[in-house]
Order: sequence, then structure tokens, then C-alpha cells
Amino acid sequence: MTLPPPSREALTALSNCLEEHSPQEILAWAVKIYGERLAMATAFGAEGCVLLDMLAQLGPLAKLPFIFNLETGYQFPETLALRERIQERYGLTVHFVRPKETVEQMEARFGGPIYHTNPDECCRLRKIVPLRKVLKDFDAWVSAIRRDQTPDRAQAGIVEWDSKFGLVKISPLANWTREDVWAYIRTHNVPYNPLHDRGYPSIGCWPCTRPVREGEDERAGRWAGFQKTECGLHSRRTVRSS
Ligand code: SF4
Repeated sequence: MTLPPPSREALTALSNCLEEHSPQEILAWAVKIYGERLAMATAFGAEGCVLLDMLAQLGPLAKLPFIFNLETGYQFPETLALRERIQERYGLTVHFVRPKETVEQMEARFGGPIYHTNPDECCRLRKIVPLRKVLKDFDAWVSAIRRDQTPDRAQAGIVEWDSKFGLVKISPLANWTREDVWAYIRTHNVPYNPLHDRGYPSIGCWPCTRPVREGEDERAGRWAGFQKTECGLHSRRTVRSS
């Protein structure tokens, strides 16, 4: 059954209340309220791995949400291998959501890759359009963003209306820090991407991710050389999504 959209005021009040709760409690609440109408996106970053570990702790309830990864065709082999490790460890399925065109088809259409000439369009076609398509079947989605990652994310509520995709967005780690995330990973022996140990604090597609240097921001290796810090999934500016 599809739930009616909640009012913005109710979501703000709820979000403020949930600020005091742990990510595990927030996740448990989300699964109980939305069940099969809940989707959970993961790019297998450190935060996403933490959320998958927390979800798995919910037992049979963990099978309810639709867990997915936006498989752009440009992910690192290490990221794809991590998906296998996570599925095996937790017994959860992480579905691939793919763009309409393969990498080969898109590159043939544009006469080559566009990730270094028009990364906004590349992200739109390979991430935003497929995300919009998959989220239309759900009432709420879980993201692994933290407020301290980017200026756009600084405004994220624990729970909020996602006007870009037309459903509720839940960010259980919004008020966590990078240190909180890594403390959880170490304590709970959570599988993570080995690229993190090779200088990649933030990992996206391989053409648009480089290791960071000493003292650089954790996302400095994403779209380096471009005025771009977000693929558009979590930014508040409007991006054409069809
Ligand atoms: Fe394309 Fe880079 Fe965006 Fe991946 S991160 S979809 S390769 S522009």
C-alpha cells in the first residue's frame, strides 16, 4: 500500500525528534514504517557499508527494503568486488540499477566518453535518470550522506521531503562524522572498499575519482579540476531528470 505524502511540517518535527536517536534506531523505524515501500541506495562507500551492517542487525526485517546500487558501468573493480563480499557476509541482495544505455552505446552516441567533457550530463544519464526511474515505485529512500561532506549536504534532515525525486528521504548518518563512521567500521569489522586504504576517502566512478593528498578535503578527489562536488543525487539544485 502506498502511503500518502506526509506534510513538510510533520517531517520537520519528526526529523528534529530523530536527531536524538541512533542511526540503528532511525533505520529500524524506517523499515517498520515503510517496509517494502522503502528503498536503500548504496555506492558501497564507508557510510553505505555501515548502514548495510546496521540493516543486517535488524534480522528478517532487513529483507524488506529494496537495496540497490547505481551501476554506471564506470565503477572500480574493487567496488564491484565489495558488493559480492557484502552480499555474502549479510545474506542481502544489492540490486544493480543500470542506465538505459550501456557505456558502449552511450560513448558511441557521443563519439566517446563524456565524463571529462560534460560530467553533469554523464551523471544525469548514468545516475539521476535511473534513480528517478527506480524511486518512483517507493515511498521513501535511505541515503548514506553526512552533513559535513559538502555544503549541499549540510542542510540535510534526518528525514525530509525529497522534492527532486518525490518521496521521503531518510539519512540516518546525517549527524555523524567521518570519525564516527570509521570507529563503527573498526568496532564491528565491517567490510569496506580497499581503495580507502590507498588514499581514496571518497569513491565514485573511476574516471572521476583520484586519491587525495595530505591535508586535502575528503572529497577533493571527486571530479578534480571541475566545479563539481556532487553527482546531483543529493544536491538541492534542480537537475533535468528525464
Ligand atoms: Fe559519469 Fe563521472 Fe558521473 Fe560516473 S561520476 S556518471 S563517470 S561523470
